[in-house]
Amino acid sequence: MQDEQELRRLIVEVGKRIWTRGYVAANDGNISAVLNDRELLTTPTGVSKGFMTTDMIIKVDRTGKAVSSNSKYRPSSEVKMHLEVYKARPDIKAVVHAHPPYATSFAVAGIPLNKCVLPEAIIVIGAVPLAPYGLPSTMEIPDSIRDLIQNSDAVLLQNHGTLTLGSDVLNAYHKLETLEHTANIVWKAIQLGNMNVLPEYERDRLMTLRDKFNLPGRVTTCDATPMPSNTSESYQSHASSDSISEQKIRQIAEQVIAKLSKR
Ligand SMILES: [Zn+2]
Repeated sequence: MQDEQELRRLIVEVGKRIWTRGYVAANDGNISAVLNDRELLTTPTGVSKGFMTTDMIIKVDRTGKAVSSNSKYRPSSEVKMHLEVYKARPDIKAVVHAHPPYATSFAVAGIPLNKCVLPEAIIVIGAVPLAPYGLPSTMEIPDSIRDLIQNSDAVLLQNHGTLTLGSDVLNAYHKLETLEHTANIVWKAIQLGNMNVLPEYERDRLMTLRDKFNLPGRVTTCDATPMPSNTSESYQSHASSDSISEQKIRQIAEQVIAKLSKR
């Protein structure tokens, strides 16, 4: 059984980190953790996650009903989403929901982060699926994540944000960091015009490492299919060489005109 005060302290600490790193704005985001068989701890609604104190953390039962004495605060409006995770995945002991800008951009663009790109991400979060949009605070989000969380500890919520699951509060938070870091790098690689995807052979070696390290949680094997951009690369370089030669032609023409005008 968890020490309640220590768990409250950890939730406050992770709240500070997600706010400091810009993973949430204003009072967004929520964190929860399993206290014991009957009770959970959750962040309060309407409070910045960067300014929480341990007394603000609310104890709720497995139906989401508050059982703690601090009546000044109400449980997170997204508590239904957290309850769904604990119901579907008894191995999960903490959940972090945030709106980190890069990962959320992919969620808004409707692009899952499922390609085999970075070794650590392949091992820790695997392919990150995209859950269909659901109205916050209703059962639409729990319904949209139900199947996906069976095989994944990190999910993008369409037009909304991220959900990460962990064996404890720090584990769920670290998966959020890995997810946002990956989204940031994938975004930048796309801007650079190319994204090399690791081949199947390398992905399988990484998955063997995951088994060897005996990492907790569940991951979906990432997609090792090369990006279409790699096949269009020759077209892009061709296009750019075209524009260079056009520029060259213009330069030569200008030089000729300059020489002629000197006569
Ligand atoms: Zn949210």
